[in-house]
Amino acid sequence: MEFLKVLENKLFDLRSNFNFRSIRSISNGAEKYITIDGKKLLNLASNNYLGLTNNKVIKNMSIEGIKRFGTGASSSRLITGNNILYDELEREISDFKNKQNSLVLNSGYCANLAALSIAKNCDIFMDRLCHASLIDGAILIGARFHRFKHNDLDHLEKMLKSSNNQKVIVTESVFSMDGDKCDLVNLVKLSKEYDAFLILDEAHATGIFGNGRGLAHEYSLENDVHLNVGTFSKALGSLGGYLSGDKVTIEYLINFARSLIYTTALPPSVIAANLAALKFIRENPSCGAVLLQISDDVRNYLKSLGFETLNSSSQIIPIVLGDSEKTLRAQEMLFDMGLFVAAIREPTVPTNFARLRISLRSDLNLDEVKLIKQAFTSLAGKI
Ligand code: PMP
Repeated sequence: MEFLKVLENKLFDLRSNFNFRSIRSISNGAEKYITIDGKKLLNLASNNYLGLTNNKVIKNMSIEGIKRFGTGASSSRLITGNNILYDELEREISDFKNKQNSLVLNSGYCANLAALSIAKNCDIFMDRLCHASLIDGAILIGARFHRFKHNDLDHLEKMLKSSNNQKVIVTESVFSMDGDKCDLVNLVKLSKEYDAFLILDEAHATGIFGNGRGLAHEYSLENDVHLNVGTFSKALGSLGGYLSGDKVTIEYLINFARSLIYTTALPPSVIAANLAALKFIRENPSCGAVLLQISDDVRNYLKSLGFETLNSSSQIIPIVLGDSEKTLRAQEMLFDMGLFVAAIREPTVPTNFARLRISLRSDLNLDEVKLIKQAFTSLAGKI
């Protein structure tokens, strides 16, 4: 069939398409140890930063959710899918993020599509390394869309100066590919000076920074971030996204966010798990700090071996190797030494910035940290 030929040609044109490892089925993909091709590996590729996917209390709450309400919501929140647990979760997340109101959506991806819907007919200024979900949100509303150089606030200011429209700044607390943080203090200053609405994606910071409440909380800037977005799928160990802001913003989103309106609500068991995960973070606010300490130790060691870790200052550490072939070879070598590490290539990162990316977790013990260091020492001698 002609159409299939066209698809085949498009695949052929991809400079680095996904290999089978990236999509093959893996037992317990979120757990500290995973098994691939019969080999047990220390998992440094999942976003289960605090190991909560297998927390007993959280699992039990989720099971209770199924027992009480069944397995699915079977309708959009705006029809009959608005399970009573949503109210509780939205109250909790508002309190957690110190915002007036919140809205829970089906994923961080959906939350970001929704977040950008407030920017219709505005000028959007987005960090060049922002996640695809934020970019897609801007595309979906057909907005004027400007991308400033990564963390370059001079560049952002130049762009803000040249706009006579309503302005929306979009950035992330912790960038998922580089593991560095935004300069939130100065972003807030610019947002005030140019009267720009500020959207902050805290996907990789929630559960980790600011006693688990995110970067805005760490800097006491919750009131200055207009819309705080994030996900329950990373440190919080389950699924779902949230948006926290003032009453008017949330009411607008309920009425205009297509990724909320036109999809079936989350299963109640997932909402129950999210409630339990928030409770866990409240009761264990220092888990994130423990993880950041482990991360500093590993990062400093990698740097001492001569690896390029960019400006990483979080639990995500890139190890930039340059070309895709070398990165895949390094991934294979680490695999043989018992580590599973993600290999990130273009188009996810720019050409010549292919990298290994490790995502650390708070439940690593001293022996496991030692194993990581030994494996990278050996890699440094071979690559
Ligand atoms: N924002 C960022 C910065 C992310 O890294 C991701 C997930 N990779 C998302 C949003 C989307 O979150 P989810 O996986 O819950 O859809």
